Amino acid sequence: MVIRITEKDNVAIVTSESGLSPGSKLDHGCTVKELVPLGHKVALSKISKGEAVIRYGVPIGYAKYTIDKGEWVNEKKLTLPAPPDLGQLPKPSNDEYSMEPITGYTFEGYRNKNGSVGTRNILAIVTSVQCVAGLAGHLTKKIKKELLPKYPNVDNVVAINHTYGCGVALNTPLAEIPIRTLQNILKNPNFGNEVMILGLGCEKLRPEQLINELDDSTGLRRILYMQDQAFDGFAGIVKGAMNMAEDHLSRLDQRNRETCPASELVVGMQCGGSDGLSGITGNPVAGYTADLIVRAGGSVMFSEVTEVRDAVHLLTPRTVNDQVYHALIEEMKWYDDYLEAGKTDRSANPTPGNIKGGLSNVVEKAMGSIAKSGTSPIVDVIPPGKRVKRKGLSFAATPASDFVCGTLQLAAGTNLQVFITGRGTPYGLSMVPVVKMSTNTRLSTRWHDLIDIDAGQVASGEKNIEEMGWELFNYILEVASGNKQVACDKLGLHNDLVLFNPGPIT
Ligand code: CA
Repeated sequence: MVIRITEKDNVAIVTSESGLSPGSKLDHGCTVKELVPLGHKVALSKISKGEAVIRYGVPIGYAKYTIDKGEWVNEKKLTLPAPPDLGQLPKPSNDEYSMEPITGYTFEGYRNKNGSVGTRNILAIVTSVQCVAGLAGHLTKKIKKELLPKYPNVDNVVAINHTYGCGVALNTPLAEIPIRTLQNILKNPNFGNEVMILGLGCEKLRPEQLINELDDSTGLRRILYMQDQAFDGFAGIVKGAMNMAEDHLSRLDQRNRETCPASELVVGMQCGGSDGLSGITGNPVAGYTADLIVRAGGSVMFSEVTEVRDAVHLLTPRTVNDQVYHALIEEMKWYDDYLEAGKTDRSANPTPGNIKGGLSNVVEKAMGSIAKSGTSPIVDVIPPGKRVKRKGLSFAATPASDFVCGTLQLAAGTNLQVFITGRGTPYGLSMVPVVKMSTNTRLSTRWHDLIDIDAGQVASGEKNIEEMGWELFNYILEVASGNKQVACDKLGLHNDLVLFNPGPIT
């Protein structure tokens, strides 16, 4: 009926699908006074005005007025605590982490010349500027119909459209973020270094800034300009692009899956449409799986700066050295300043849906969000748009916005993403498989064809976090091998990439 996370907590979270009715008696010697919905908090003792409301053993807010035992504790009754002071954060603990290695886990992947491993074999057609997005869309349809059947080892052709490239200030240090994001997306292991770029010709961002025109090893051309004088009409442009695509498809078709150790996984964890159960079921399960990936020698990243900011004091002790400690704080500071420049603050998160799902404020959301980082040491901090450098658990500094975070994780080199949702979002990407996990069974029942895994079983006691964590880990290996198709791929539901561009548009 309810879950109390730590002994210190003076609230418990409702796990009954229909909520708690008035008059219900709880083990904690408390009678429920009003209807408390699923994922929401019920007061286990009287909380006087100004007193802390404790969940996860920490204050998630202070009572605006006295809350009686058995009352519903929601966002209207709480004030927001101050965020952790970035100048006073606990130092790296230097604890000896005993992450016992696990061995023998493998998946069937596409090994690239540079050593990275793809989970899919995809021809990426990247635009240098939004002007040519229509051509990219036209081409992908035509290629799928006319060329793809000739190359059975190639899984898909995807257009990588975005709104950057022209009408933007390139002479600002902030331009580095979207530009390096594009550069690094091209290097995603699923594209096998066979990408092609569609440019217009007069745009500010030169395609050559993204990739060398000729492939070093094959000499194949990789950039096509619509304004190229050689082309006669749209039909001529399409013919030129189809020829270029065929060159790359024939090379991609030579790729074959081979057995690779699980240490080649690069998994991005993200949550979206979270609810009060995210921190009890979905995120701790993802965290357990994150630990398994680390123990198998793989790479895993968690992200979403605004959703770790309020819990950063719990993360800094897990950084492996002073350099990673300072890098983590620097990313938090950058984002504080970014929000301030926009005359807003962290209270802009959560969403109305999060609140309806039981998350009263960003502190409560953050405490649940960081659970998906598991317990491993944080070996690196990846600034937005940069690539993963180290095996183990990294923090990829991204906004919490689902599509922006997903795009930056793609640039960081993820070959698979895990997305945890309580309210339900159809998030998916066409470039990497996205495994979607629900935090409650009510969602996975209603969205039986949109959700891959149900972590709600933890709330009902059917399975524990460890069992669900292994289940997700094994599922990831199957999906990475191409043996299982995730729900959003089956349904063809894919989001647009959205570049993080903090710089001015001209
Ligand atoms: Ca998110």
